[in-house]
Amino acid sequence: MKIGIPKEIRAGETRVALIPPMIAGLIRDGHEVLVESGAGVGAGFADTAYQDAGASIIDDAAKLYTNADLIMKVNAPTFNPTTKKHEADLLKNGTTYVGFLMPQENKDAVEKMVRKKITCFAMEFVPRITRAQSMDALSSMATIAGYKAVIIAAEKLSKIFPLLMTAAGSITPANVLILGAGVAGLQAIATAKRLGAKVEAFDPRPAVKEQIESLGASFVEMQLPEEDVETAGGYAKQQSDAFLKAEQDAIGKRLPRMDVVITTAQIFGKRAPILITRAMVEQMQPGAVIIDLAAEQGGNCELTAANEQVEAHGVTVIGVVNLPASVAYHASQMYSKNITNLFKHLYLAPEFILNFEDEITNGACVVRDGAIINDVVKNLVQ
Ligand code: NAD
Repeated sequence: MKIGIPKEIRAGETRVALIPPMIAGLIRDGHEVLVESGAGVGAGFADTAYQDAGASIIDDAAKLYTNADLIMKVNAPTFNPTTKKHEADLLKNGTTYVGFLMPQENKDAVEKMVRKKITCFAMEFVPRITRAQSMDALSSMATIAGYKAVIIAAEKLSKIFPLLMTAAGSITPANVLILGAGVAGLQAIATAKRLGAKVEAFDPRPAVKEQIESLGASFVEMQLPEEDVETAGGYAKQQSDAFLKAEQDAIGKRLPRMDVVITTAQIFGKRAPILITRAMVEQMQPGAVIIDLAAEQGGNCELTAANEQVEAHGVTVIGVVNLPASVAYHASQMYSKNITNLFKHLYLAPEFILNFEDEITNGACVVRDGAIINDVVKNLVQ
């Protein structure tokens, strides 16, 4: 199979779908790898590194798409303002796309894929099951985002994180609150602890308390209405207004002594819950920093604007977007491993035939030969 790796065109994107060390294994399995010139430069991989690994460099995106049987990307196919072409229009009829799709924001890409009878595997639909852990790019990217959110907070804060006993007196540790302790939240806790902060965290899923405490943070106990908070698959369920109001009250009591708040709360496929209102921000100390990782899902703070830094009442609220692109080398390394593992699972050697009876293959497939087979995406597009 000819696997094509285009250069990402999303503004600010530096990641690449496949890094050179992953290529040898694909070639050993009999595949050919075509890489658009400059695709890896943002992540630190020159064309020569790809050539040395056995890939062919193609100087033009259109030529790459025409020659590939399968495209591996990071971001969903999108309109390229420079060439005035949509990436989905470049896909050859009947070929395969593997990468993030974010169908809510990319309905046009899905429609074009349907018309071109594409088979599309979306990284965000890889089921979060044990067998698929090595293919879970959402978790990889959330890990990086959780780490980087803390680094940004530390940079913005006019205080240091650790306790210091110096000849010039004692410095107390920074108080950090993490809301939502899924993948990003747990990594944020671990990173803030490593920097020496005093960390508190909350998540409505009962199992998470132990994970928070195992990282050395305190779990914030809250008096909340009894509610079924978890799906059978272990995801958070959308909470009632009464639940969120009680949670806001409990968070509000702690905010005045917090230096940093990192919010990561999300309900899969829904708008992020508002956990911090404008009035609650007003109660915070000047100089405090809120990093909102859920900015692209509407934000966990009422003042969040995606990709912007808002100053209000002396508090800085940062709606971070695409943090993995700011750590392009390791983000690409992790993504590359995830997408290669998925590819090898989908096209199992030596037959290389898709098996839709398999939970991972079927779960990750959004469009099969032009037919939308994922109900979430079907509802979005139709
Ligand atoms: P996840 O699903 O693993 O974790 C989300 C957590 O939020 C879950 O543990 C859930 O129980 C919790 N939650 C739900 N409702 C809550 C509530 N009312 N209060 C507190 N917690 C609540 O998700 P993740 O992979 O860790 O990602 C977290 C967020 O970070 C998502 O919004 C994701 O899109 C975002 N993200 C942002 C970037 C970026 O660069 N900005 C990168 C990766 C992920």
